[in-house]
Amino acid sequence: MFLTVHSAVGMAIASRIDDPVAVFVLAVASHYILDSIPHGDDNLVDKSLPELIRRRKLTRIFMVEVVLVLVLGFFILTKVPINPVYMWLAVLGAMLPDILWGVHSVVKWRWLEPHNRFHNLVHNPLKIIISLRKGLILQAIALVLIISFIL
Ligand SMILES: [Zn+2]
Repeated sequence: MFLTVHSAVGMAIASRIDDPVAVFVLAVASHYILDSIPHGDDNLVDKSLPELIRRRKLTRIFMVEVVLVLVLGFFILTKVPINPVYMWLAVLGAMLPDILWGVHSVVKWRWLEPHNRFHNLVHNPLKIIISLRKGLILQAIALVLIISFIL
């Protein structure tokens, strides 16, 4: 699932809960729950491409998403009275599992292996495949609903 959607859920959590530890823990948990829902972006980058090219494409997508998350976060902060520290903490928590996954895929640190296995285990566990197009539409609808909930 796109980091923008994960982060928006984190922002929603921060908009309703006034405890930084709970906000962070719930934001991390929300990531795994959302990832368990079929979301159609499993093949966002062609897995048959050489590893270096795949990583470059994933890095570009990550950078675009970080910009989108920052824009969304600052927009939310102008509209809703959320503690900015809690909100950015929630964003970090909501993104953390994919950041760890990304770090592991590059540097292969063994201590990240258990997390990687868990992340893969909860990622669409029913293996329901939906197209990228349907996934993008579903995620866009989810994003609008989440932002509406926050505002
Ligand atoms: Zn994930």
